[in-house]
Amino acid sequence: MAALSPAKADTLINCDRLLDGESASLQINKTIQIKDNRIVAIHDKPAKPEGGHRTIELGDMTCMPGLIDAHVHITSQQSPNRFTDRFTKDPADQAFAAVPYAERTLMIGFTTVRDLGSSGNLSINMRDAINNGHIIGPRIFTAGKSLATTGGHADPTNGTNQKFRGNPGPKEGVVNSTSDAIKAVRQRYKERADLIKITATGGVLSEASSGQNSQFTEQELDAIISIAKDYGFKVAAHAHGKEGMKRAVAAGVDSIEHGTYMDVETMLLMKRKGTAYVPTIIAGKFVEEKSKIDGYFSETVRPKAATIGPLIQDTLARAYKEGVLIVFGTDSGVSPHGDNWKEFGYMVEAGMPEVEALYSAMKPGAVLLGKESDLGTLEAGKLADVIAIKGNPLVDISRMQHVRFVMKDGQIFKQP
Ligand SMILES: [Zn+2]
Repeated sequence: MAALSPAKADTLINCDRLLDGESASLQINKTIQIKDNRIVAIHDKPAKPEGGHRTIELGDMTCMPGLIDAHVHITSQQSPNRFTDRFTKDPADQAFAAVPYAERTLMIGFTTVRDLGSSGNLSINMRDAINNGHIIGPRIFTAGKSLATTGGHADPTNGTNQKFRGNPGPKEGVVNSTSDAIKAVRQRYKERADLIKITATGGVLSEASSGQNSQFTEQELDAIISIAKDYGFKVAAHAHGKEGMKRAVAAGVDSIEHGTYMDVETMLLMKRKGTAYVPTIIAGKFVEEKSKIDGYFSETVRPKAATIGPLIQDTLARAYKEGVLIVFGTDSGVSPHGDNWKEFGYMVEAGMPEVEALYSAMKPGAVLLGKESDLGTLEAGKLADVIAIKGNPLVDISRMQHVRFVMKDGQIFKQP
């Protein structure tokens, strides 16, 4: 599927306001010059257009780098049928249903996402389908299948009857020893994942009683991290409970996801080790709200959703005050795809200034992906991922829903 227009001559994008993802201050009257899929320069407006350049006049808009959501599940979306769908839908049904999720994510300004787990490795196929131009969506970096322990948060057979329960192992992402851990990471390499995701503690939406128990031994964590390094993989750790979280940080994971019961000791350890915190407040709010509806969740999941969900916003407030590195992430696929922008408002409510909430979806997201030479800021040499929001989101953060211009990799996908 073609983008709206091919980028042949240089393109000049005129912005009344610009956030470059690097400095905290809003810049006024700037022009972004783009050649092919890279940013050539940022000029003061008006840059004099030389022969053949095309100019895009954005007027009363705020330009910024394409946003990065560091925690999505791009190939699925929560519903009361989520569990039974696994037995009634074919992988192709799930794949076709996921096509609009990717498109919505891009059109709301997220040009890059980190996918932290999909069944059947669908996110790997979707990444390739987008890169090959078959469907429209953000640039995806994906963990493929998350790694869990038996009965843990990403054990794919949790909650099934004995006919289906079986004995999943490293190939299916289930680890119960250091040798399993090594094999599970190498399996992800073979399957062409971009990073590793582990479920360091119990979780809300799995059919298991605890949402916070520790689920890997220190030896298993050490094995995962050291083999991941061999293959150039970063490691993201889902964690709600304190002990499992602390073990994961000590072992050297790159990010803690959700982090619900994070204590000061863990925050200090994260600061010392440079571990990022990806809060996903919107996921907590979504599951809390749905826990009030009879039958939406199973009676195993429901109390976890009601207890853990509402705590995450306060965790972010505490972690921000303590100076932990915050990276934007929503867990979209729990909440609906396309609602990602709402997380900015929740971050501001938790005490982050607007500019810092926005910044968390720029350079720090790129660094967490190990892609800071290409992504995360508007500066010469970076990939041309540019978006523009009608109005000024530094004055009113809810403006983030009004994305009017989206360019990814030099191609325009949305234009006023
Ligand atoms: Zn998640």
